[in-house]
Amino acid sequence: MDQKTATTAVKTKIGPVIFLGAPGAGKGTQAKLIMQRYGIPQISTGDLLRDNVSRGTELGKQAKAFMDKGELVPDQLVCDMVAVRLRDADCDPGFILDGFPRTVGQAEWLDGLLKGDFFQKRCSLPPVVVNFRVSYNQLLRRLTGRRTCPACGRIYNVHFQPPRVADACDVDGSKLVTRKDDSEEVIAERLKAYERQTLPLIDYYRRQGRLREVDGERAPEQVTAEAFQAIENADRV
Ligand code: AMP
Repeated sequence: MDQKTATTAVKTKIGPVIFLGAPGAGKGTQAKLIMQRYGIPQISTGDLLRDNVSRGTELGKQAKAFMDKGELVPDQLVCDMVAVRLRDADCDPGFILDGFPRTVGQAEWLDGLLKGDFFQKRCSLPPVVVNFRVSYNQLLRRLTGRRTCPACGRIYNVHFQPPRVADACDVDGSKLVTRKDDSEEVIAERLKAYERQTLPLIDYYRRQGRLREVDGERAPEQVTAEAFQAIENADRV
């Protein structure tokens, strides 16, 4: 898939797209490309929570302690935040949920929300769920090498996708940062939380017939092409 294809917005109703996968599976990177192609927003609950923490909101204060330890923030807090964001007008043609749902409770809540009047009137397409599969060792290398541009959000990896100039964003030159929860100790906790609380979602969506699997270890552009296919060929009944 060339860059031009990847950045050409497709003008149709896409509906809800859910990205599943462990921390470091590439959900954020892929979501940004999908967002450009379909002109729909990426809704990353991790980014929304980090924004609340940095603004010192009540939600941010409550979420911070969990995030610092690599634990999941309680469902109620995250679901309330998502409910508000999904009502924004930019979500009308569809949206990509990146990092949500992360528990069966969140998935059940989301199913209920999408079946409600507001969302049925807006777009009755059921969600397509894309799971990015990546091995444990690869996840560790990706998370420890991850650097992010604080200005434009672009994600780099010092091992696999380094910036042209060390520590500086290729796009705007900002100094790249390491996320606080990308320390080895917190990474281990986050991966444990994933196995305990998020992995059961794969069966949850498989039983609903919604799950599409993508090999997240292939070259990024191949992963993107597979993700586009999964979304465009999904049987949305
Ligand atoms: P992420 O950027 O998706 O890796 O998320 C960073 C942290 O935010 C996680 O380790 C959790 O503490 C919290 N978080 C993000 N999304 C959720 C969610 N759907 N449910 C609970 N906690 C979340």
